[in-house]
Amino acid sequence: MADNWREITEEEEADIERHVTRVVRRVGSARIEIEDILRDLELAELNRQKQRAAIRKINAVLDRLDADLRVEAEDIPAQTFEHGRALALLAFGIAAAAGLSAGASALAEGASVASISDVGTETVGAAKRKLRSDRGMNNEQRALLANARETLTEDLLAATQNTRRHVKREIRRAAARTIREGEAGQQGARAQIRDLRWRLGASANLAITDRGGNTWKLNDYVEMAVRTKSAEMQVEGERTEALREGVQYGVVSTHVGACEKCVPWQGRILALTSDAPGDFSTIEESKNGGLWHPSCAHSLTMLPTFDLLPKRLRDKNGV
Ligand SMILES: [Zn+2]
Repeated sequence: MADNWREITEEEEADIERHVTRVVRRVGSARIEIEDILRDLELAELNRQKQRAAIRKINAVLDRLDADLRVEAEDIPAQTFEHGRALALLAFGIAAAAGLSAGASALAEGASVASISDVGTETVGAAKRKLRSDRGMNNEQRALLANARETLTEDLLAATQNTRRHVKREIRRAAARTIREGEAGQQGARAQIRDLRWRLGASANLAITDRGGNTWKLNDYVEMAVRTKSAEMQVEGERTEALREGVQYGVVSTHVGACEKCVPWQGRILALTSDAPGDFSTIEESKNGGLWHPSCAHSLTMLPTFDLLPKRLRDKNGV
């Protein structure tokens, strides 16, 4: 039976990177537009009118970016959540194909042969078709998704809001400096302008200082926020879909060259709820233990039956 075991393939995983790339590219193009506006500023005679005109243009760029980020923050959690739900149905399909009919003893406590065989699919595509046609979200899933959309929207807009503030502040600072330019003479003025240009450029990519006191560039922050929320929603999609069929466990993926924090978690069975029988860490506990740090690449494969695990993983988990 162990021969049928497989983890989620990279192809099935590919969704998240696609979203991340698209959003990062969108943020990058806004940044270039802002940098162009800043480069065109005549620092030697930056009067109030010119300041206002530049700020107005930059606001327009950031407004357009915000509008796009709002759409992304609605769309990405929905897609990654659905992807996770689909992966759960795929895991059921794999379990069913591996001969769950051998009997209920093969199942982790709570799961039932009939339901898993019934909802399992052979591909992610088939799973998504099933989810869209005849398997809607339950209340918990709807609430989770709504919450994820809201937090991602807030996080992304808070970041661009900060960029907006930084840029405005630097433009005003530049204006205040150039008024005194006469005192420093030609040479000094040129050095000052170089410095101002540098500060202005940097302000266009400054986003946010997080709870840990780290300063993030806008593109890095957006990348981290999208990737982290996507991974979280994928796992939540799998978890909630599995629980609907009584499946209470998943197993953490194993990668070559995984980050140090995650290595101890690789191949470990996790409980999908705190009341799942057996001595397994919950998803929450694994997070507190270092797994699924920001930008982590680990995934969870739903596990209707421990019998599916190859001997190496059964030994590791003592099942
Ligand atoms: Zn990791």
